[in-house]
This record gives sequence, structure tokens and C-alpha cells, in this order.
Amino acid sequence: MKKYDVIVIGAGVCGIYMLYRLLKQGLNVLVLDKADGPGGTWYWNRYPGARFDSESYTYGYSFSEELLQEWDWSEHFAAQPETLRYLNHVVDKFDLREPMRFGAHVQSAKFDDASNEWHVVLEDGDIFSSTFLCTAIGMLSAATPPRIEGIDRFQGQAFHTYDWPQEPVDLKGQRVGVVGTGATGVQVIGAIADEVGELTVFQRRPNWCAPLHNSKISAEDMADIKARYDEIFAQCAATPNGFLHGPDRRELKEVPEAEKYAFWEDLYNSPGFGVWLGNFRDVLTDMDANAEFSNFIANKIRERVNDPAIAEKLIPKDHGFGTRRVPMETRYYEAYNLDHVSLVDINETPIECIDETGIQTTETRHEFDVLIFATGFDAITGAFDRIHIEGTGGQKLSDKWHDGPMTYLGMQVAGFPNLFTLAGPQGASVATNFPPAIETCVDWASDFIEHLFKEGVTRVEAKQSAEDAWVEHVKSFYDMSLVSNTQSWFTGYNSNVDGHDKLRYMIYLGGSPTYREKLADVASSGYKGFTTS
Ligand code: NAP
Repeated sequence: MKKYDVIVIGAGVCGIYMLYRLLKQGLNVLVLDKADGPGGTWYWNRYPGARFDSESYTYGYSFSEELLQEWDWSEHFAAQPETLRYLNHVVDKFDLREPMRFGAHVQSAKFDDASNEWHVVLEDGDIFSSTFLCTAIGMLSAATPPRIEGIDRFQGQAFHTYDWPQEPVDLKGQRVGVVGTGATGVQVIGAIADEVGELTVFQRRPNWCAPLHNSKISAEDMADIKARYDEIFAQCAATPNGFLHGPDRRELKEVPEAEKYAFWEDLYNSPGFGVWLGNFRDVLTDMDANAEFSNFIANKIRERVNDPAIAEKLIPKDHGFGTRRVPMETRYYEAYNLDHVSLVDINETPIECIDETGIQTTETRHEFDVLIFATGFDAITGAFDRIHIEGTGGQKLSDKWHDGPMTYLGMQVAGFPNLFTLAGPQGASVATNFPPAIETCVDWASDFIEHLFKEGVTRVEAKQSAEDAWVEHVKSFYDMSLVSNTQSWFTGYNSNVDGHDKLRYMIYLGGSPTYREKLADVASSGYKGFTTS
């Protein structure tokens, strides 16, 4: 069994940077990924329309000035192929490919109490061991197709968006059905509506969507961005979610009527997440303020969709704007004005089954050539549950987290020594601009690992008391946000996974600046809350 200092599972945005940091320390590292190449989420999600909702230049890594200066983004919100090229460029530039093993599907990881090592077993039977194990397995990497009777009988092409084929899929003139209207479905629908022969969207709950307003970046603009990277990253670091957009400090009731609408029009017509995260500060915390802004957006939907009955179906009634992740769209609502696009509200006419040629609802039979399932993920903990992770005394992580994750700092789990859950549950990566938060947690974890090796520590474990306190801290923010009243992957709901039908404390709602302070405080105290030996 080959032994490493550190094994990292996952070669996405997080795994790539963790490897970079650990190699700089001179450690012997192995990265395992089941894909055929690096990129993680950007390797898998090849569906039409897949692109950033973060400004491209806030999504790239900030750790290398040289990298920042040599990479040109072509669009303000880059599409998946460009992001995958970027991540491959990073891997090659910093010589990171050699320690990566692809096609490596990790089946189990068990901590051996006697040797203080992790033993990692691949599906093909290969076994490796390491002192430290880092999971960089993504928050949205355990895809969940819908549980619909007969789903496997369909004889045409059918894909979950996450498993979109590498080779191009020709949708021209095809009869296409899309199930799901989250951020992914909304991107797909906007991208394919003009091209397909017929498009039928099966919607369970509509989302509040807002225009992305993507555009090309000129050479001049890119030069300006390159000159301002320090300022751009400082701006992201100061906002709660790590994006360029932070809340307006005013409360809605302080703002005169005309000024309020002018501000909202401006937000709606500006690129990116400003409409969600740059709004008046009470829009996401106060029900009345939220209802008022939701009404503003509802009217936008009514303006953009020709058929008033369809417009009403597209307006959410069960939750307020921004309390679930806001899908950013390009001509999404206009798609429903096309004669060959139709919307099926499956609350009115539920899907009964899928068969060889299509979908049967309680009312209509729909024949398709292609079915697209944009039905989301067993988010945040799903990728952990799909690996048999065993800590001290044979305890399984999936058992410990059965009713929801429990961590210390979103970084370690009591009973699972030497395991770093990078960008995992209850850390600040979830619900923020992923790469800046990932850099924060990778910097912290890799510094900690460097410290442990220097001190000759071979075993580190979160104290149960520290974990309990962190879980309470994570929970405390849920009362302050309207997000916690809404069922979505943010709050741990997924109708396609057994038992995921109640609130689970998955994400750190305290904001990135507070999270960074907490991490810095623990590091400067000599890593309180951990036992080492
Ligand atoms: P999602 O937000 O969880 O949406 C899944 C959709 O499928 C929902 O509309 C859901 O309906 C529907 N659905 C699930 N099971 C169903 C069933 N059995 N029958 C009918 N409908 C069903 O998943 P997602 O759209 O893949 O997005 C997940 C996250 O990925 C996003 O929130 C975002 O963070 C990330 N993402 C990012 C980007 C980007 O940065 N550009 C793009 C895409 C996605 P209900 O609402 O009723 O549950």
C-alpha cells in the first residue's frame, strides 16, 4: 500500500488549490478524482448554457499575480468550456497534473486507529494510505435524478445535467422535455429554446429569476480589470457572500418611493447578483420588505411573458425573492413566448410515469426525443454519503450526519481524526462565491497541516465540545434569515433523497468576513478546539 502525507479527494477548484499549497510545503500528495481530468463541477456540467453567475474575474484564483495577469476572460460571466480551459491551464502552469490520478473512484476511506492513517480504497481495488485526508468533493456533485416511475424505460437520449455527455448533443429540431426549473434548468431552457423543435418544461415550483446581463469583455476592459485585481478582491472580501455585490446599508422603509423604484430598476438592469445581494439590507431578513420586492419582480415577469396565465404559473407563491438561490437567466421568460415552448405545472397535472417514448401526466401524453433532468443534487453532504467514510471505533460519517452535518469550523468532525472537510458543510464556501471561500479554507487547512508536520503531530481531532459549540453557532444565524423558512438545497431538502424532508443546518449564514475571523482566531490561539498527539 503506497503511503502519502496527504490524500486529497477531488481535483476541482478546491482540490487543485489544495494540491498547489501542499506541494509548496514539500509534502508527498496524491489527488484522486473519478473524472478523466481536472475541473470538478466544470468538468461534469457540460449542459447547454452552463456558465458562471459570478463575475469571471472574481471566480478565478487570486493566489498568483502572474496567473491573474496572463489569463484573459472573454465574457463577464464565462461559459463552462472556458472555465474548464482555465482550470486545466492552472494545473499545467503549476505542474499539478503528475500527482493527480484520474478515473479513480473512491469507494471507502477508513481511519486506522493503530497507525493514525487513513486507508483509501478505490472501486478498482487499489488502496492508498495517508496521514491526512482532505475531501474536496464538491457541494453539488451528487446528482439526483427524479424518482419517477419508468424513468429507465425511456428509449431516447436522457441525461441529468450533471452527467451531460462530453460529445456534443444535437438538439436541433428535437422534441425535448426538461424537468426542473432551478438555476440549472433555467440556464438550459434559455440556451436551447430557439434551437429545439419542441420544448416542454415540467415545473414543480417556480423560482424567482433575474437577468444575468452577460456581455463580452473587450481587451481594454480586461486590461482595466487586471490593473484593479487588488481592489476587486478586496471588494469581494468585504461582502458577506464573497461577491462584488454587498447589501445596501439602507432599510427599505427609509427610502422614498421614487428612489426605491429607481434603485430596483437599476439593480434589475445591472449584470450579476446585485439584484439579490446588493439590495436594501432588510429585503432578505424582513418579510414585508421581501414581499414588496417580490412584487416588483413578479411584475417584471408579467411584463416579459405574453400569456398572463403562463406568467402567473412562473411567479413563485410559496417563498419570497432571494430566499432560495436566485437563478440568473438569459431570455428565460421570453422562451415561454415561443409557439413551440410549453409549460406544464406538475402540481396541476402530476407526472404519472415515463415510458419508452415520453412522459405521461394525469392529463396529457408528451412524446420526446430527449429528456433533460435538471433536478439538482443531494447537496453538500451527498458526496460524503456516497463514500464509505469510517472514523474511530468504526463510526460511519453517514450515520453521524444522518439528521444533518455536525462539524467544527466546517473543517473537521469529532471522531474522524486527520480528516479535513474542505469546503464542506457548515463552512463559508456554501452559499458564497465558491473560489474566494475555497481559498480561505485551503489556506487555513494547509497552514494547519504545515504546523502539524512541523510539530511532529500525527493525529489531530476536533473536540466534541468544540464541535457542539460550532453547530450551535451555525444554527444561531438561521433565525436571522428568511432563507431558513424555505425548502431548498440550502436548507437540506431534496424530494429525491430519503429522509431529506426537514431542515438540516448545512450552511454558514454568518457571512465570509465573520467566518474568516473565526478561523483566524482559532489559528492564532494555537488551534484551540483540537486535540493533538
Ligand atoms: P435545484 O436548484 O435544486 O433545482 C432542481 C429543480 O428540479 C427544482 O426546480 C426542483 O423543483 C426540480 N425537481 C427536483 N426533483 C423533481 C421531481 N422529482 N419532479 C419534478 N421536479 C423536480 O438544482 P440546480 O438547478 O441544479 O441548481 C443547484 C445549484 O447549483 C444552484 O442553486 C447553484 O448554486 C448551482 N448552480 C450554479 C450555476 C452557476 O453558477 N452559474 C448554474 C447552475 C447551478 P422544486 O423547486 O419543487 O424542488
